[in-house]
Amino acid sequence: MGVLKDALKVPVGFDTDVNGSALGEATWGITKGLENSMYITIGTGVGAGIITNGTLLHGMLHPEGGHLLLSKHPDDGYEGKCPYHKTCLEGLASGPAIEARWGKKGAELEDQKEVWELEAYYIAQALVDYIMVLSPQRIILGGGVMHQEHMMPLVREEVKRQLAGYIKTKELEDIEDYIVLPSLNDNQGIMGALKLAVNEYQLEK
Ligand SMILES: [Zn+2]
Repeated sequence: MGVLKDALKVPVGFDTDVNGSALGEATWGITKGLENSMYITIGTGVGAGIITNGTLLHGMLHPEGGHLLLSKHPDDGYEGKCPYHKTCLEGLASGPAIEARWGKKGAELEDQKEVWELEAYYIAQALVDYIMVLSPQRIILGGGVMHQEHMMPLVREEVKRQLAGYIKTKELEDIEDYIVLPSLNDNQGIMGALKLAVNEYQLEK
């Protein structure tokens, strides 16, 4: 980052792609005005951007929410794709995991209900864990896997089932408005990058 800044002679902001998407949506999109929100992308890889108390969460590095460790569904014989953990969220629910488990790409499995029910089972498990720890006010699910139109209702239902009534909030009561798709026409990442630039610029002034 220092190298870029020295060469370009302008303020430089830097973050992960999924944090960029979380920031873009929180600045101009569907999580605007919320102090606590998340953006999770489920595609070739899985990542999570977390906004807490109005700022992106970094901590010692950045959160690696795609590698949340999950319990396997009793009927799932697939060993998991992640080279580090096997059965983390990315290992069980990424696009490559779907392809390795079923022998076909997600796009070719559109009509197979069991594929998407299992997928929703894992995504929901991760969301329940995020909800318990981070208490987000809204969760955005993006990425290629979520382009499957039937996914969102399955995920919402499964989150409700797995939460089992333990948490009762007005947000969860209106789950269609709580777990949502991105709102910025796939420009959320670049818009987040613009916001990072604005932040850096204002810091230097
Ligand atoms: Zn992993």
